[in-house]
Amino acid sequence: MGINDLYICVPFKRFVRLFKIMPETRETYELLKNYVEHFPIGLLLFNDKKELISWNKQALNLLESKEEDFKKNNLGLISSQINEIVSTEKMLERDLIGLTKPYKLKKVIADDKNTILVVLETHQESIGEMSHELRRPLTNIKTLAESLLLGAKNDPDMCQKFLEQINNEIDRLTRLVNELLSLSKIRSGKLTQEKKKINLKTKVEDAIKLLQSIADKVKTKIFNEVPEGYEIFADPEQIDHVIQNLLENAIKYSPEGSTITVKSGPTKGSFQVDDTGVGIPESELSKIFERFYRVDRTKAKGSSGLGLSIVKNVIDLHGGKIEVKSKVGSGSSFIIYLPID
Ligand code: ADP
Repeated sequence: MGINDLYICVPFKRFVRLFKIMPETRETYELLKNYVEHFPIGLLLFNDKKELISWNKQALNLLESKEEDFKKNNLGLISSQINEIVSTEKMLERDLIGLTKPYKLKKVIADDKNTILVVLETHQESIGEMSHELRRPLTNIKTLAESLLLGAKNDPDMCQKFLEQINNEIDRLTRLVNELLSLSKIRSGKLTQEKKKINLKTKVEDAIKLLQSIADKVKTKIFNEVPEGYEIFADPEQIDHVIQNLLENAIKYSPEGSTITVKSGPTKGSFQVDDTGVGIPESELSKIFERFYRVDRTKAKGSSGLGLSIVKNVIDLHGGKIEVKSKVGSGSSFIIYLPID
Protein backbone atom coordinates (compact mmCIF):
# COMPACT_ATOMS: atom_id res chain seq x y z
CA MET A 1 0.00 0.00 0.00
CA GLY A 2 1.17 3.54 -0.65
CA ILE A 3 3.40 5.03 1.98
CA ASN A 4 0.85 7.59 3.04
CA ASP A 5 -2.43 5.93 2.49
CA LEU A 6 -4.14 2.74 3.47
CA TYR A 7 -7.22 0.90 2.41
CA ILE A 8 -9.69 -0.50 4.86
CA CYS A 9 -12.24 -2.96 3.54
CA VAL A 10 -15.42 -3.62 5.40
CA PRO A 11 -17.40 -6.61 4.14
CA PHE A 12 -21.11 -6.26 4.74
CA LYS A 13 -23.41 -9.09 3.64
CA ARG A 14 -22.96 -9.29 -0.16
CA PHE A 15 -21.09 -5.99 -0.43
CA VAL A 16 -17.65 -4.80 0.47
CA ARG A 17 -17.04 -1.13 1.20
CA LEU A 18 -13.61 0.27 0.66
CA PHE A 19 -12.25 3.20 2.57
CA LYS A 20 -9.05 4.95 1.66
CA ILE A 21 -7.45 6.60 4.65
CA MET A 22 -4.71 9.17 4.56
CA PRO A 23 -3.19 9.35 8.02
CA GLU A 24 -1.81 12.72 8.95
CA THR A 25 1.17 11.63 10.96
CA ARG A 26 3.67 8.82 10.65
CA GLU A 27 2.47 7.52 14.02
CA THR A 28 -1.14 7.16 12.95
CA TYR A 29 0.07 5.61 9.72
CA GLU A 30 2.04 2.95 11.59
CA LEU A 31 -0.88 2.33 13.94
CA LEU A 32 -3.35 1.87 11.12
CA LYS A 33 -0.89 -0.21 9.10
CA ASN A 34 -0.55 -2.52 12.06
CA TYR A 35 -4.33 -2.71 12.29
CA VAL A 36 -4.77 -3.63 8.61
CA GLU A 37 -1.91 -6.10 8.91
CA HIS A 38 -3.71 -7.98 11.67
CA PHE A 39 -7.18 -7.47 10.28
CA PRO A 40 -9.13 -10.73 10.67
CA ILE A 41 -10.06 -10.66 6.98
CA GLY A 42 -7.67 -11.54 4.16
CA LEU A 43 -6.78 -8.63 1.86
CA LEU A 44 -4.76 -8.62 -1.35
CA LEU A 45 -3.90 -5.46 -3.24
CA PHE A 46 -3.21 -5.44 -6.99
CA ASN A 47 -1.96 -2.49 -9.00
CA ASP A 48 -3.48 -1.39 -12.30
CA LYS A 49 -1.16 -3.83 -14.12
CA LYS A 50 -2.85 -6.61 -12.12
CA GLU A 51 0.33 -7.34 -10.15
CA LEU A 52 0.07 -8.31 -6.51
CA ILE A 53 1.69 -5.48 -4.59
CA SER A 54 0.54 -5.93 -1.01
CA TRP A 55 -1.30 -8.26 1.36
CA ASN A 56 -1.96 -8.74 5.01
CA LYS A 57 -1.13 -11.65 7.34
CA GLN A 58 -4.61 -13.09 7.23
CA ALA A 59 -4.47 -13.38 3.42
CA LEU A 60 -1.31 -15.47 3.75
CA ASN A 61 -2.94 -17.68 6.40
CA LEU A 62 -6.19 -18.21 4.54
CA LEU A 63 -4.57 -18.84 1.19
CA GLU A 64 -2.04 -21.19 2.79
CA SER A 65 0.75 -19.24 1.10
CA LYS A 66 4.25 -18.07 1.95
CA GLU A 67 5.46 -14.48 2.06
CA GLU A 68 8.35 -15.31 -0.34
CA ASP A 69 5.94 -16.68 -2.94
CA PHE A 70 3.69 -13.62 -2.77
CA LYS A 71 6.77 -11.41 -3.15
CA LYS A 72 7.52 -13.23 -6.42
CA ASN A 73 3.90 -12.74 -7.50
CA ASN A 74 3.54 -16.51 -7.26
CA LEU A 75 0.06 -17.49 -6.14
CA GLY A 76 0.56 -21.21 -6.86
CA LEU A 77 -2.47 -23.41 -7.41
CA ILE A 78 -4.91 -20.55 -6.96
CA SER A 79 -3.16 -18.18 -9.37
CA SER A 80 -5.47 -18.77 -12.35
CA GLN A 81 -8.57 -18.38 -10.15
CA ILE A 82 -7.26 -15.11 -8.70
CA ASN A 83 -6.15 -13.92 -12.10
CA GLU A 84 -9.62 -14.55 -13.49
CA ILE A 85 -11.39 -12.33 -10.96
CA VAL A 86 -8.76 -9.59 -11.10
CA SER A 87 -8.76 -9.40 -14.89
CA THR A 88 -12.42 -10.03 -15.70
CA GLU A 89 -14.09 -6.67 -15.65
CA LYS A 90 -17.62 -7.69 -14.72
CA MET A 91 -16.69 -10.39 -12.21
CA LEU A 92 -17.08 -8.97 -8.71
CA GLU A 93 -16.96 -12.21 -6.78
CA ARG A 94 -16.07 -15.83 -7.32
CA ASP A 95 -15.55 -19.01 -5.35
CA LEU A 96 -11.99 -19.96 -4.60
CA ILE A 97 -11.46 -23.68 -4.31
CA GLY A 98 -8.69 -26.21 -3.85
CA LEU A 99 -7.61 -25.08 -0.38
CA THR A 100 -8.52 -26.88 2.82
CA LYS A 101 -11.59 -24.66 3.16
CA PRO A 102 -13.76 -23.02 0.53
CA TYR A 103 -13.47 -19.23 0.21
CA LYS A 104 -15.21 -16.49 -1.65
CA LEU A 105 -13.22 -13.68 -3.22
CA LYS A 106 -14.80 -10.25 -3.43
CA LYS A 107 -13.34 -7.57 -5.63
CA VAL A 108 -13.34 -3.85 -5.00
CA ILE A 109 -11.82 -1.39 -7.44
CA ALA A 110 -10.45 1.77 -5.90
CA ASP A 111 -10.53 5.23 -7.50
CA ASP A 112 -6.81 4.96 -8.25
CA LYS A 113 -7.57 1.77 -10.28
CA ASN A 114 -5.93 -0.44 -7.69
CA THR A 115 -7.88 -3.62 -7.00
CA ILE A 116 -8.47 -5.13 -3.61
CA LEU A 117 -9.46 -8.73 -3.19
CA VAL A 118 -11.14 -9.68 0.03
CA VAL A 119 -10.92 -13.33 1.05
CA LEU A 120 -13.96 -14.53 2.96
CA GLU A 121 -14.52 -18.01 4.30
CA THR A 122 -17.74 -19.55 3.02
CA HIS A 123 -19.89 -22.29 4.39
CA GLN A 124 -20.02 -25.54 2.50
CA GLU A 125 -23.02 -25.81 0.20
CA SER A 126 -25.83 -24.05 1.98
CA ILE A 127 -28.15 -26.44 3.77
CA GLY A 128 -31.22 -24.47 2.68
CA GLU A 129 -30.21 -24.63 -0.97
CA MET A 130 -29.57 -28.36 -0.75
CA SER A 131 -32.78 -29.25 1.08
CA HIS A 132 -34.77 -27.37 -1.49
CA GLU A 133 -33.24 -29.38 -4.32
CA LEU A 134 -33.61 -32.70 -2.50
CA ARG A 135 -37.22 -32.03 -1.58
CA ARG A 136 -38.46 -31.87 -5.18
CA PRO A 137 -37.81 -35.49 -6.17
CA LEU A 138 -38.91 -36.63 -2.71
CA THR A 139 -42.26 -34.83 -3.06
CA ASN A 140 -42.76 -36.41 -6.49
CA ILE A 141 -42.01 -39.90 -5.15
CA LYS A 142 -44.42 -39.36 -2.25
CA THR A 143 -47.23 -38.19 -4.58
CA LEU A 144 -46.72 -41.13 -6.96
CA ALA A 145 -46.63 -43.67 -4.10
CA GLU A 146 -49.78 -42.19 -2.55
CA SER A 147 -51.60 -42.38 -5.89
CA LEU A 148 -50.63 -46.05 -6.18
CA LEU A 149 -51.91 -46.75 -2.68
CA LEU A 150 -55.16 -44.91 -3.35
CA GLY A 151 -56.03 -47.26 -6.22
CA ALA A 152 -53.71 -46.71 -9.17
CA LYS A 153 -52.08 -50.03 -8.26
CA ASN A 154 -55.20 -51.83 -9.49
CA ASP A 155 -54.77 -50.54 -13.03
CA PRO A 156 -51.79 -52.44 -14.51
CA ASP A 157 -50.93 -49.70 -17.07
CA MET A 158 -51.08 -46.90 -14.53
CA CYS A 159 -49.17 -49.01 -12.01
CA GLN A 160 -46.38 -49.63 -14.55
CA LYS A 161 -46.24 -45.92 -15.48
CA PHE A 162 -46.11 -44.68 -11.87
CA LEU A 163 -43.46 -47.21 -10.91
CA GLU A 164 -41.32 -46.12 -13.86
CA GLN A 165 -41.69 -42.49 -12.75
CA ILE A 166 -40.73 -43.42 -9.17
CA ASN A 167 -37.71 -45.24 -10.55
CA ASN A 168 -36.69 -42.14 -12.58
CA GLU A 169 -37.10 -39.86 -9.56
CA ILE A 170 -34.92 -42.18 -7.46
CA ASP A 171 -32.25 -42.11 -10.21
CA ARG A 172 -32.42 -38.32 -10.16
CA LEU A 173 -32.12 -38.21 -6.39
CA THR A 174 -29.13 -40.55 -6.48
CA ARG A 175 -27.44 -38.42 -9.15
CA LEU A 176 -28.07 -35.28 -7.13
CA VAL A 177 -26.61 -36.77 -3.96
CA ASN A 178 -23.56 -38.07 -5.88
CA GLU A 179 -22.99 -34.68 -7.47
CA LEU A 180 -23.33 -32.92 -4.13
CA LEU A 181 -20.76 -35.30 -2.65
CA SER A 182 -18.29 -34.64 -5.51
CA LEU A 183 -18.78 -30.91 -5.19
CA SER A 184 -18.26 -30.93 -1.46
CA LYS A 185 -15.12 -33.09 -1.86
CA ILE A 186 -13.69 -30.68 -4.44
CA ARG A 187 -14.52 -27.59 -2.44
CA SER A 188 -13.07 -28.90 0.79
CA GLY A 189 -9.70 -29.40 -0.94
CA LYS A 190 -9.89 -33.19 -0.57
CA LEU A 191 -9.73 -33.85 -4.30
CA THR A 192 -6.17 -34.09 -5.54
CA GLN A 193 -4.95 -34.39 -9.10
CA GLU A 194 -2.68 -37.00 -10.55
CA LYS A 195 -1.88 -35.26 -13.79
CA LYS A 196 -0.64 -37.27 -16.73
CA LYS A 197 -0.25 -36.85 -20.47
CA ILE A 198 -3.51 -38.02 -21.96
CA ASN A 199 -4.37 -38.98 -25.52
CA LEU A 200 -7.51 -36.87 -25.92
CA LYS A 201 -8.89 -38.68 -28.98
CA THR A 202 -9.07 -41.97 -27.06
CA LYS A 203 -10.66 -40.29 -24.04
CA VAL A 204 -13.35 -38.71 -26.21
CA GLU A 205 -13.96 -42.03 -27.97
CA ASP A 206 -14.56 -43.69 -24.58
CA ALA A 207 -16.99 -40.97 -23.50
CA ILE A 208 -18.91 -41.23 -26.80
CA LYS A 209 -19.27 -45.01 -26.36
CA LEU A 210 -20.73 -44.46 -22.90
CA LEU A 211 -23.27 -41.91 -24.12
CA GLN A 212 -24.04 -43.46 -27.51
CA SER A 213 -27.38 -44.98 -26.48
CA ILE A 214 -28.66 -41.66 -25.05
CA ALA A 215 -27.54 -39.83 -28.20
CA ASP A 216 -29.14 -42.47 -30.46
CA LYS A 217 -32.48 -41.99 -28.71
CA VAL A 218 -32.59 -38.37 -29.89
CA LYS A 219 -30.85 -39.11 -33.21
CA THR A 220 -27.91 -36.89 -32.25
CA LYS A 221 -24.57 -37.55 -33.92
CA ILE A 222 -21.32 -37.01 -32.01
CA PHE A 223 -18.14 -36.44 -34.05
CA ASN A 224 -14.69 -36.91 -32.58
CA GLU A 225 -12.51 -34.52 -34.59
CA VAL A 226 -9.63 -34.41 -32.13
CA PRO A 227 -6.41 -34.88 -34.16
CA GLU A 228 -4.59 -38.22 -33.78
CA GLY A 229 -1.96 -38.05 -31.04
CA TYR A 230 -3.29 -34.75 -29.56
CA GLU A 231 -2.25 -34.61 -25.92
CA ILE A 232 -3.57 -32.81 -22.88
CA PHE A 233 -2.13 -32.80 -19.38
CA ALA A 234 -4.72 -33.64 -16.73
CA ASP A 235 -6.05 -36.09 -14.18
CA PRO A 236 -7.50 -38.91 -16.34
CA GLU A 237 -10.51 -39.69 -14.13
CA GLN A 238 -11.44 -36.07 -13.57
CA ILE A 239 -11.12 -35.22 -17.25
CA ASP A 240 -13.43 -38.17 -18.08
CA HIS A 241 -16.01 -36.51 -15.88
CA VAL A 242 -15.54 -33.15 -17.62
CA ILE A 243 -15.86 -34.60 -21.15
CA GLN A 244 -18.90 -36.72 -20.25
CA ASN A 245 -20.63 -33.82 -18.57
CA LEU A 246 -20.13 -31.45 -21.49
CA LEU A 247 -21.31 -34.11 -23.94
CA GLU A 248 -24.35 -34.97 -21.79
CA ASN A 249 -25.32 -31.31 -21.71
CA ALA A 250 -24.80 -30.92 -25.44
CA ILE A 251 -27.16 -33.88 -26.03
CA LYS A 252 -29.68 -32.69 -23.42
CA TYR A 253 -29.90 -29.11 -24.68
CA SER A 254 -30.08 -29.86 -28.41
CA PRO A 255 -33.15 -30.76 -30.44
CA GLU A 256 -33.49 -34.15 -32.11
CA GLY A 257 -31.14 -34.80 -34.99
CA SER A 258 -28.46 -32.31 -33.88
CA THR A 259 -24.72 -32.71 -34.25
CA ILE A 260 -22.04 -32.40 -31.59
CA THR A 261 -18.33 -32.06 -32.34
CA VAL A 262 -15.36 -32.44 -30.05
CA LYS A 263 -12.12 -30.95 -31.38
CA SER A 264 -8.86 -29.36 -30.29
CA GLY A 265 -9.19 -25.77 -29.10
CA PRO A 266 -7.50 -22.51 -30.09
CA THR A 267 -4.37 -23.03 -27.98
CA LYS A 268 -2.05 -25.96 -27.27
CA GLY A 269 -3.63 -28.33 -24.73
CA SER A 270 -7.12 -26.88 -25.11
CA PHE A 271 -10.22 -28.56 -26.51
CA GLN A 272 -13.84 -27.76 -27.15
CA VAL A 273 -17.29 -29.29 -27.36
CA ASP A 274 -19.52 -27.63 -29.95
CA ASP A 275 -23.23 -28.25 -30.32
CA THR A 276 -26.02 -27.05 -32.57
CA GLY A 277 -28.51 -26.86 -29.71
CA VAL A 278 -30.81 -24.31 -28.09
CA GLY A 279 -27.96 -21.97 -27.08
CA ILE A 280 -27.72 -19.80 -23.98
CA PRO A 281 -28.79 -16.13 -23.74
CA GLU A 282 -25.84 -13.76 -23.27
CA SER A 283 -27.19 -12.55 -19.91
CA GLU A 284 -27.07 -16.11 -18.53
CA LEU A 285 -23.57 -17.03 -19.70
CA SER A 286 -21.75 -16.11 -16.51
CA LYS A 287 -24.38 -17.71 -14.27
CA ILE A 288 -24.47 -21.23 -15.69
CA PHE A 289 -21.39 -22.23 -13.69
CA GLU A 290 -23.08 -21.39 -10.39
CA ARG A 291 -24.42 -24.16 -8.21
CA PHE A 292 -28.03 -25.19 -8.92
CA TYR A 293 -28.38 -22.65 -11.73
CA ARG A 294 -30.46 -23.64 -14.77
CA VAL A 295 -31.42 -21.30 -17.55
CA ASP A 296 -34.95 -22.60 -17.82
CA ARG A 297 -36.03 -24.54 -14.77
CA THR A 298 -39.31 -25.66 -16.28
CA LYS A 299 -37.59 -27.32 -19.23
CA ALA A 300 -34.62 -28.63 -17.28
CA LYS A 301 -36.19 -31.99 -16.45
CA GLY A 302 -33.99 -34.34 -14.50
CA SER A 303 -31.23 -31.77 -14.22
CA SER A 304 -29.56 -30.64 -11.03
CA GLY A 305 -27.77 -27.49 -12.12
CA LEU A 306 -24.59 -28.90 -10.56
CA GLY A 307 -22.85 -30.39 -13.60
CA LEU A 308 -21.12 -27.26 -14.89
CA SER A 309 -20.26 -26.11 -11.39
CA ILE A 310 -18.36 -29.38 -10.89
CA VAL A 311 -16.71 -29.05 -14.32
CA LYS A 312 -15.57 -25.49 -13.55
CA ASN A 313 -14.25 -26.47 -10.13
CA VAL A 314 -12.26 -29.37 -11.61
CA ILE A 315 -10.80 -27.14 -14.32
CA ASP A 316 -9.92 -24.48 -11.73
CA LEU A 317 -8.07 -27.10 -9.71
CA HIS A 318 -6.08 -27.97 -12.82
CA GLY A 319 -5.08 -24.30 -13.08
CA GLY A 320 -7.12 -24.07 -16.29
CA LYS A 321 -10.03 -22.05 -17.61
CA ILE A 322 -13.43 -22.75 -19.14
CA GLU A 323 -15.02 -20.44 -21.66
CA VAL A 324 -18.44 -20.55 -23.28
CA LYS A 325 -19.58 -19.00 -26.54
CA SER A 326 -23.20 -19.33 -27.45
CA LYS A 327 -25.96 -18.02 -29.65
CA VAL A 328 -29.61 -18.66 -28.88
CA GLY A 329 -31.06 -20.97 -31.51
CA SER A 330 -27.69 -21.78 -33.09
CA GLY A 331 -25.71 -23.62 -30.44
CA SER A 332 -22.93 -23.43 -27.88
CA SER A 333 -19.20 -24.08 -27.62
CA PHE A 334 -17.56 -24.94 -24.33
CA ILE A 335 -13.79 -24.44 -24.53
CA ILE A 336 -11.45 -25.93 -21.94
CA TYR A 337 -7.95 -24.47 -21.59
CA LEU A 338 -5.51 -26.59 -19.60
CA PRO A 339 -1.91 -25.79 -18.71
CA ILE A 340 0.45 -27.84 -20.87
CA ASP A 341 2.36 -29.30 -17.90
P1 ADP B 1 -27.94 -29.24 -15.48
O1 ADP B 1 -27.66 -29.63 -16.90
O2 ADP B 1 -27.97 -30.40 -14.55
O3 ADP B 1 -29.12 -28.32 -15.34
P2 ADP B 1 -25.45 -27.78 -15.54
O4 ADP B 1 -24.74 -27.13 -14.41
O5 ADP B 1 -24.70 -28.83 -16.31
O6 ADP B 1 -26.76 -28.37 -14.92
O7 ADP B 1 -25.92 -26.65 -16.56
C1 ADP B 1 -26.53 -25.47 -16.05
C2 ADP B 1 -27.48 -24.90 -17.09
O8 ADP B 1 -26.74 -24.40 -18.20
C3 ADP B 1 -28.44 -25.91 -17.68
O9 ADP B 1 -29.59 -26.08 -16.87
C4 ADP B 1 -28.76 -25.30 -19.03
O10 ADP B 1 -29.78 -24.33 -18.89
C5 ADP B 1 -27.47 -24.58 -19.41
N1 ADP B 1 -26.63 -25.38 -20.34
C6 ADP B 1 -25.58 -26.17 -20.03
N2 ADP B 1 -25.02 -26.71 -21.12
C7 ADP B 1 -25.73 -26.26 -22.19
C8 ADP B 1 -25.65 -26.45 -23.61
N3 ADP B 1 -24.71 -27.23 -24.17
N4 ADP B 1 -26.55 -25.79 -24.37
C9 ADP B 1 -27.50 -24.99 -23.83
N5 ADP B 1 -27.63 -24.77 -22.49
C10 ADP B 1 -26.76 -25.40 -21.68
